[in-house]
Amino acid sequence: MATKKSRQLRQPPSASTTKAPIPEMEYLIIGNSAGGIAAAEAIRELDKNGKLAMVSEEPYFAYSRPLISEYLAGERSLDSMLLRPADFYQRNKIEALLGTKVARVDFGPKLVELEDGRSLAWRKLLLATGGTPIVPKLKGSHREGVFTFTTLEDADKIGQAANRGRTLVIIGGGLTGISLAQALVHRGVTVVMVELMDRVLATALDTEASRLVEQALRREQIELILGHTAKEIVGRPEDDRRVGGVILQDGRTIPCDGVVFAIGVAPRTELVAGSAVTLNRGIVVSRRMITSRRDVYACGDAAEAYDFVHKTNRLIPVWPNAVAGGRVAGFNMAGRRVSYEGNTGMHSLNCFGLSTVAAGLVDSKDDPTCEVLADSSAGNGTYRKIVLKNNRIVGMVFVGDIERSGIVFGLMKDRVNVRRYKEALLSPDFGLGTLPDDLRRKRLSLANSQRGDASGNGR
Ligand SMILES: Cc1cc2nc3c(=O)[nH]c(=O)nc-3n(C[C@H](O)[C@H](O)[C@H](O)COP(=O)(O)OP(=O)(O)OC[C@H]3O[C@@H](n4cnc5c(N)ncnc54)[C@H](O)[C@@H]3O)c2cc1C
Repeated sequence: MATKKSRQLRQPPSASTTKAPIPEMEYLIIGNSAGGIAAAEAIRELDKNGKLAMVSEEPYFAYSRPLISEYLAGERSLDSMLLRPADFYQRNKIEALLGTKVARVDFGPKLVELEDGRSLAWRKLLLATGGTPIVPKLKGSHREGVFTFTTLEDADKIGQAANRGRTLVIIGGGLTGISLAQALVHRGVTVVMVELMDRVLATALDTEASRLVEQALRREQIELILGHTAKEIVGRPEDDRRVGGVILQDGRTIPCDGVVFAIGVAPRTELVAGSAVTLNRGIVVSRRMITSRRDVYACGDAAEAYDFVHKTNRLIPVWPNAVAGGRVAGFNMAGRRVSYEGNTGMHSLNCFGLSTVAAGLVDSKDDPTCEVLADSSAGNGTYRKIVLKNNRIVGMVFVGDIERSGIVFGLMKDRVNVRRYKEALLSPDFGLGTLPDDLRRKRLSLANSQRGDASGNGR
């Protein structure tokens, strides 16, 4: 059902997809998602006419990746997932080469080779190539009915398998696995979630918050198998090519009709492998999002951006980081010197009505220099926790009532010393009014200046 509709989002055939030679691009962006779009817009703010092309393997106009679970659930139309109107590329004089994979980048002569045989020359290049889903090498993972869940196409494929009454096993109890579980429950699918750690969202939340999310999942009849992982995917007795079950490492078999791997993404760096562009876990960039190679920039899930909590560059695979990093990259590509102020791992999720927001150091038990303020006394599934170091917020977890999480995140991001009012941070009444006058005025003017900023969360 969704397959037919998603074709409507694809770029119609145009002159840009013919075999004619393509002139040199002033700016070339690989990737047409959060990072790529933010960079293109920043470039156009400074340079209205410089030749700009975006290449993306996915055949669609840019869409919100975080919304693919709502799309799969049938709660979202494709139109409402578009990041920008369909005429965005034309209006901004962007050559959009969609459904086109870059096969190779030549950093010396500044060329890219497209998989269809064409070449493009560039002066400034942005790698906004995102992440690729991790699929463990498991016996039987070639079988029909094994999926990942990171693209619109994945959602379409799972949608075809997700019929009422079927059972799907999700491997991974992280944010992607949980958002997928919600979509499947909506479609009447029986969901079994297998998580290697002893709790869901183990890297995003602390133990208390994980337990609240687990309760919400179990209330929806989702079976949670914690502390286990899959060993093999077996076929059906009547058709060995199709998934019939998952064997766990303890030998148990879970009969099912499909398996989805949702165990994370790895930065997509194959285009720079073996090149002069320095690679760590992701592409290494400066605060201006420039790689070790002049005129080559990177952002988003593919790059290691500055984390203001950990005070170092690391992978921060979240939407706002891709948008903000892409914007900085775009400005620098077009000639304005801008430094990225940094970000940190931040997660927000609404799990069957239970809202959670967490950022920074959520579990600080190994760090004796941290001070923890926590409150779960309301007893109605509401939980708030703030982690401080030297009177500055370095981590936060909000479950249930998340209304004040934005203000707390702002204080954390700006490294504000909260010594004078830290006890008030957990109060349900905490708000801008609680802050001392000078700080309140500063934060209000900051909020006004940021209004209209493109750095959304993809929703
Ligand atoms: C199901 C799901 C839910 C999520 N929910 C949230 C959320 O609630 N909040 C949040 O903050 N984040 C969320 N994220 C993470 C967020 O979507 C990513 O951090 C964000 O999309 C990263 O943007 P990006 O521009 O770096 O790369 P991507 O969005 O990954 O886009 C990269 C693009 O580059 C293309 N590409 C790569 N290599 C090539 C090549 N060689 N040639 C041509 N094209 C290429 C890819 O096909 C892709 O289209 C979610 C992710 C998923 C999968």
